Amino acid sequence: MKKAIFAGDGQGEKMADGINARTKRRMVGLMAVLTLVGFGVLIVRLFTLQVVNGETYQYQATQQQLREVEISAGRGDIYDRNGNIIAKSATAWTVVISPNNIAKEKRAAVADGLSEILDVDRETVLKATEKDTSYWVIKRKVEREVAESVIDFANKNKISGIACEEDVKRYYPYGSFASATIGFTNLDNSGAYGIEAYYNKLLSGTSGKIVSAKNARGNDMPFKYEMMYESEDGNSLVLTIDETIQHYLDKNLEIAVKEHNVGNGAMAIAYSIKTGEILGLSVKPDFDPNAPQAVTDEATLALLATLEGDEYKAALQQAQFRQWRNKAISDPYEPGSVFKIITLASALEEGAVNLNSTFSCTDAGVTIQGQTITCWKRGGHGMQTLGEIVQHSCNPGFVNVGQSLGVAKFREYFEAFGLMERTGVDLPGEAESLYHSDSVFGKVELASSSIGQSFKVTALQLISAVSAAVGGGYLYEPYIVKSVIDSDGNVVAEYEPTLKRQVISEETSHLVSELCEGVVTLGSGKLAYVPGYRIGGKTGTAEKLDKHFAPGQEKYALSFLGFAPIDDPQIAILVVLDEPAEANYGSIIAAPVVGAIMSDVLPYIGLEPHYTEDELEEVSAKVPNVVGQLTHDAHASARNAYLTVNVVGTGAKVVRQVPEAGTSVSKWSTIILYTEDYDDKDIVETPDVLGMSIEEAREALAAAGLELEAIAEDPDAEGLIAVAQAPSKGEVIVKGTAVRVEFEVKE
Ligand SMILES: [Zn+2]
Repeated sequence: MKKAIFAGDGQGEKMADGINARTKRRMVGLMAVLTLVGFGVLIVRLFTLQVVNGETYQYQATQQQLREVEISAGRGDIYDRNGNIIAKSATAWTVVISPNNIAKEKRAAVADGLSEILDVDRETVLKATEKDTSYWVIKRKVEREVAESVIDFANKNKISGIACEEDVKRYYPYGSFASATIGFTNLDNSGAYGIEAYYNKLLSGTSGKIVSAKNARGNDMPFKYEMMYESEDGNSLVLTIDETIQHYLDKNLEIAVKEHNVGNGAMAIAYSIKTGEILGLSVKPDFDPNAPQAVTDEATLALLATLEGDEYKAALQQAQFRQWRNKAISDPYEPGSVFKIITLASALEEGAVNLNSTFSCTDAGVTIQGQTITCWKRGGHGMQTLGEIVQHSCNPGFVNVGQSLGVAKFREYFEAFGLMERTGVDLPGEAESLYHSDSVFGKVELASSSIGQSFKVTALQLISAVSAAVGGGYLYEPYIVKSVIDSDGNVVAEYEPTLKRQVISEETSHLVSELCEGVVTLGSGKLAYVPGYRIGGKTGTAEKLDKHFAPGQEKYALSFLGFAPIDDPQIAILVVLDEPAEANYGSIIAAPVVGAIMSDVLPYIGLEPHYTEDELEEVSAKVPNVVGQLTHDAHASARNAYLTVNVVGTGAKVVRQVPEAGTSVSKWSTIILYTEDYDDKDIVETPDVLGMSIEEAREALAAAGLELEAIAEDPDAEGLIAVAQAPSKGEVIVKGTAVRVEFEVKE
């Protein structure tokens, strides 16, 4: 933004001394650009000539002073790890008037014209024209066409004192994509939230200025005296976030929030176990950083519509703060049973328990110093092994694991896993965890803490701690900026993973990882299973005890943390649904969300599926009936029938499926699930490409919005024609799908 400030005579000389050869070159370059662009020159001249012409000239010899105009530096871009643009700056225009130079009889015309072109209040513009000043902003960040209309209007109506100044506007091409993490910029182009705020200094660069002579009325004297001090553009950031993974998180979280009518928001994190890189971070409700003030949550909008005046203003502000908030790092929550992984890892490392330990779970629960903790399963689980209490997420079992470990050791590991410190992630607003102070932490507190209750950590703290527990014992500092590049494209900084410490041994960690596999293959996390992959995980169900709910209306934070592959964990995914409408278990609603994300993400990050002999034996699969099911449950059913799933829409329920139930198809065929909000435009009938050449097939498929996956023994051979295709002609598939076509040389 250009800002006019006034300086005394002396400063001009001092500044002039500082101009070096490079700056002069830049000035020449800038003049050339201005001439080429034309529009910029037009505007500057329109303003200066109209304003300066006439009587004002007579003052200039005697009453000149220096005026400084700030030139804003270009703000750096933000990219995902693969170079996709997440945030960029582009030219916009600020419409200003010089009320002192607008003829009195033209004021009404100015108000009429500008209010219409700029869609601003006419009365406000009229009042502005009456002010005793030579500079007043009417509207910021308008597009070029709008600025041109303003200048046309001024020219046609012979109105002086209207100008458009060059400005920049921030664009976020992916809309609400990772909005709580990316944040947004203020009107003055400085970062207000998220990465935009945390890295504001790096992104914004150093502004320059133009020093020019001005006359007594504060108007520029064109081309009489002007010096330019170059600005230095900001650096760009390359994030650890992967656009594709983020998309899977966003989409599945959006569906989950609708499926379960989640009342207090939801979050999902994809985390690189071996580096601490945040691969994706999704928070709902979210917002569009292109219009961050606009409230997006439908329930909140409905509430706002009923309010007026101050009440409305207060509620609006509250809703905005809520949607801008990065819940995953700013709102600690009770992790519930997901935390049992940490209890397990600590006790195994200390030798307090081992694979031969047994645990009893009865209806009576377990009583520690008069306080009884019962199991979530009525009647109890009976006698169990260590593996079984993990699979069953048995409360008395884990209370006993904690007691075996003891108060002091539990505390030691709780701290070593990073749960008493901020993670140090490079994002603003990270909260501290909440836990019992040393003086009150006794056996009773140990009992509740062992099962993840009576303390709070952030989702990011939890996923980094669990990643250490299952990933060899190594605790990394989470981070989100991978590298910094300057405006010429040179890499000026690269961030490496930061190992904080090794908390447990690799052997113990491997054991923890394997025990967690049982949760998915045999236990409470079955709905997170993805055939061909060894996935481990843990469910979490934590009652919200710090809010008051009527009996029977208690609310929960339900979660599932999954990771893969078991023998060498690389990626962890945590999904937390805060206050779903119905009280339920994390296993039932959060596990399938993680499973759906995993089924897309694992092949995407290059992990090959490995099937068991049994799985390989059968070549065909029967399509199950999933119409009417919740989207994620349908996804899990189809996955477990050895089908690949493609969900069209982001609705809560499946209203249509292709192929139909009962159809016999080959294994790993794609089944398409349409949710209630699916868009017909997203789907297409597969064209017949048999007999076509590679180029013809590619064109035919492209015309239908599809991609070609060409298979040929020798792709460069002459006379290749298509002999087989999958999906076959007429099959309804999602746009963007690759159609696999086999080509052979025509005899
Ligand atoms: Zn139990």
